[in-house]
Amino acid sequence: MKKIISIPLAIITLLFSYQTAFTQIAIEAGDPPNNTDLPVFFKSKLSDIDKELGNIKSGEVKQIATSPGGLPVYAVFYGEKDDLHSQANYNSAVAARNPAYYARKDSSTKPVIYFVGPVHGQEVEGIVGLVNLIHIAETGKDYRGKDWTDLKNKLGQCRVIIIPCANPDGRKRCPYDSFVGIPGEIMTKYGQGTRKDGSSYGWPIAKSVHPMKGDVKILGAYFNNDGINMMQDEFFSPMAEETKAILEIARTESPDLTVSLHSHENFPLILKASYEPMFMKERIHDLAKRLNQRYKDSGQVYFPYDWFWEPSVEDKEFPPKTTFNLVSALHQISGTMSFTFECPHGVITEKDTEPIVGYNQILDIELTLYDEMLDYLLENRLYWKLK
Ligand SMILES: [Zn+2]
Repeated sequence: MKKIISIPLAIITLLFSYQTAFTQIAIEAGDPPNNTDLPVFFKSKLSDIDKELGNIKSGEVKQIATSPGGLPVYAVFYGEKDDLHSQANYNSAVAARNPAYYARKDSSTKPVIYFVGPVHGQEVEGIVGLVNLIHIAETGKDYRGKDWTDLKNKLGQCRVIIIPCANPDGRKRCPYDSFVGIPGEIMTKYGQGTRKDGSSYGWPIAKSVHPMKGDVKILGAYFNNDGINMMQDEFFSPMAEETKAILEIARTESPDLTVSLHSHENFPLILKASYEPMFMKERIHDLAKRLNQRYKDSGQVYFPYDWFWEPSVEDKEFPPKTTFNLVSALHQISGTMSFTFECPHGVITEKDTEPIVGYNQILDIELTLYDEMLDYLLENRLYWKLK
C-alpha cells in the first residue's frame, strides 16, 4: 500500500518542482526589489502583451510557436500580404543571379517590415516599445497619449509583422519589470544567470555552455526553458521552436527590413552586421548613422563614440570572434536588411551612478528607432525585378 501511494507522490513532487523551477525566479535576499514606480505606459510584462493583443482590431494575431515552458509566442500582422511570385528559395535565387526569383518587389508590392521582439527575456525595453507600437497602429497614440499619426500612416503603407516577445519563458522567469536604477551586475545575474556556487556567468561566458544546462543555479532570462539562446541557435537545425518560427516568418514574408531588439548597459545603437553582403552592411551602417544623428538632434541620448566610421569585416585571423547569429540567419534566409538594436536599460554602474535613461526616454528611444526604420525603408527600398 505504501508503495502505491509513494509513486503518485513522487510524480506530484516532480511535477511541482518542474513547475516551480520555471515560474518567476525569486529575487535573492540582499538584491534590490523590483521597481514599483513603473508608469502605466511602461508595458513590459507578458500580461501587458496579452491585454494589448486582446484589443487588436485592425491587425491579425497568430500564435507562431509554443515555448518549452508552454507559453504562446505571438506575432501581429498589419497590411495584406502581397503575392511575391516566389519560384525559388532565396539562396537558389541568388545563385541564379537575381533575388526576384525568390520574391518580386516593386512599386506594386508593399514594403515589408519585421520587428522581432526580445529573444533575451530580461531585455524588456523592446516589449515596452512594441506594445506601444501596436497601440499606435491601432489608435495613432502611444500609452502616454502622445500623438504618432505620422508613424501610424507610415505603418499603413507597409506589411508589418511584430513579435512582441520572442522568448516568453525568459521574460516570465525574469523577476524585474525594468532595470532603471538597478545595478548592472543584478541585470547580468538574472539576465545571463548564475552557476551553482552563485557566481554570475556574465557576458559573453553565458554563451560558453549551450544549451545552458548543468552548472546552473539561476537560469538566465537570456534562455528559454530548454536553455536555448535564440541569438546563437543552431541555424541549420534550430533547437528552439521560437527560432524556427522567427525564421519561418522571414522566409515566407520576405521582409525588406528586420530588427532584432535587444538592450544593454550603454547608449542606444545599431550593431554592425555580420555575414551579410557588403552592400547590405553599408545600408545598415547608413541607417545606424541616421538614427544616431536623430537621437542627437532631438536631445535624446546617443552613441558618442567613434563606432560608425565603417561597416564590419569578418575575422581576418584565428581565432574567429564574429558569429553567424540570428540576424545573419534572417538575412541569409530572406535577403532582408536585418540588424540588431541595443537600447539602454537605465542600469547604474561604476561609470554611470545615475541611470542614463528613465522610463520616458526608453519609450522615446524605441519609437524613434521604429519611425526612423520606416523613413529609411520608404525612402531607400530595394526593388527586386526579373528584368
Ligand atoms: Zn540581447
